[in-house]
Amino acid sequence: MNTRYTRTEAAALPLLWRGDVLIAGGGSAGCAAAVAAARSGADVLLVEPAGFLGGTGAAVLDTFYGFYAPGGGRVVAGVGWELCERLLEDGQAFERPNTYGAGTGVTYEPEALKRAWDELVLGAGARVLHHARIVAVVLDGERVRGAVVDTAAGPGVVLARNTIDATGDAEVAWRAGAAVDRPAEQNRVQPLTATFRMGGVDLGATPVAELHRLMAAASGDYRLPRLDGSVHRTVLPGVVHTNLTRVSGVDATDPWQLSAAEREGRRQVAEYVRFLTERVPGYENAYLLGVSVRIGVRETRRLRGRYVLTREDVLGAREFPDAIARCGAPIEDHDGGNGTIWVYVGGGPSGRSYGVPLRCLVPERTGHLLVAGRCLSATHDAHASVRSMAQCMAAGQAAGTAAALATGDVADTDPAALRAALALHGALL
Ligand SMILES: Cc1cc2nc3c(=O)[nH]c(=O)nc-3n(C[C@H](O)[C@H](O)[C@H](O)COP(=O)(O)OP(=O)(O)OC[C@H]3O[C@@H](n4cnc5c(N)ncnc54)[C@H](O)[C@@H]3O)c2cc1C
Repeated sequence: MNTRYTRTEAAALPLLWRGDVLIAGGGSAGCAAAVAAARSGADVLLVEPAGFLGGTGAAVLDTFYGFYAPGGGRVVAGVGWELCERLLEDGQAFERPNTYGAGTGVTYEPEALKRAWDELVLGAGARVLHHARIVAVVLDGERVRGAVVDTAAGPGVVLARNTIDATGDAEVAWRAGAAVDRPAEQNRVQPLTATFRMGGVDLGATPVAELHRLMAAASGDYRLPRLDGSVHRTVLPGVVHTNLTRVSGVDATDPWQLSAAEREGRRQVAEYVRFLTERVPGYENAYLLGVSVRIGVRETRRLRGRYVLTREDVLGAREFPDAIARCGAPIEDHDGGNGTIWVYVGGGPSGRSYGVPLRCLVPERTGHLLVAGRCLSATHDAHASVRSMAQCMAAGQAAGTAAALATGDVADTDPAALRAALALHGALL
């Protein structure tokens, strides 16, 4: 299939929309980008294949990390924190200290998250096209001019001055021919996780350390790929959310591998439910409420941008003159057998954080395109720190603001002017 169209070829398809900023993907990064761009006065379209906003945050998870640096204060504000405040005020979220010391998290009700994003994104004036997927880019030389979107009504074209790739998979950048890294090909890719929720749980009956001890003790009787992991309280009484399953060695951009991983994730969920109900006090009357809408994917294709964030940058709490966001989250690498590797910014939970450079969002050569969210330019290790949802929202806000302010190619954004605009809108830099 043709993944690149010239403007002449694209003219043969129905024009669905034309405007200032096109955003591919309505996850944490894409939603924050849409809010920021629309509030900055741009005419914005967000294209999202699912029927709801929030991406992985709504389909798989229930806790934002990255707002707080472990052992310190908040390092992300702006659109992301506005979202949290809404959820906290509505009683749809609460702050929760993290068992592993990843810093305080904000645990939310995923259904409330979907509605909060609807209100913020639409309220800012952006348009949203659901059940639509970007399948090709419209190029003018190496400049992205828009995309071909597949819908139930057939393909159509959307044209924009600038585009933001917030697909998680750097799908627009890759289709446009920008340089990308493929961690799965390098055999260093984080595993996938199907999360699940259980109801009817007596939460106080088994503290987390005892749960982990029971897991280790039962590992001969059950096939449990992970013997640590999170089972935590939620906004709903008697309901827990889990992060336990682990499907390793998958290239989630390969549809066959991803399909098999979805099935394996469900199989593992059934095994953990069997273990919890048979062996763990407090789960005697518990039942499975639901498995994540799709399996959670931590790491796929990433942009190789004008700067590649490294492990040394993260651990050394490095500052950059073009920083557009801050991150204090530790390197959290699930690639380590049945445990998880944690390495802290600055050597320990000290509250230290580093800057995320604008150059990590900018392709080396492809023009009129920025990338935001988990597919920004970073090494495997640095990505394991910078991928938390608060940082995805902060980078999304920066990308949206830059795209709205750009009169020409967003890649030419003056970092100082962008930083000033972000600071004006409450971002912490
Ligand atoms: C199992 C798991 C547990 C995690 N735990 C936590 C946690 O507890 N706290 C935390 O902060 N972070 C956690 N993370 C990391 C974090 O969730 C992700 O890094 C973050 O959600 C990524 O946000 P994003 O906006 O970049 O991508 P996503 O939220 O994945 O959004 C990408 C969106 O793009 C859309 N899309 C894809 N392709 C196209 C296309 N071709 N056209 C249009 N749209 C497209 C998708 O439908 C999706 O909605 C976890 C991740 C996983 C997988």
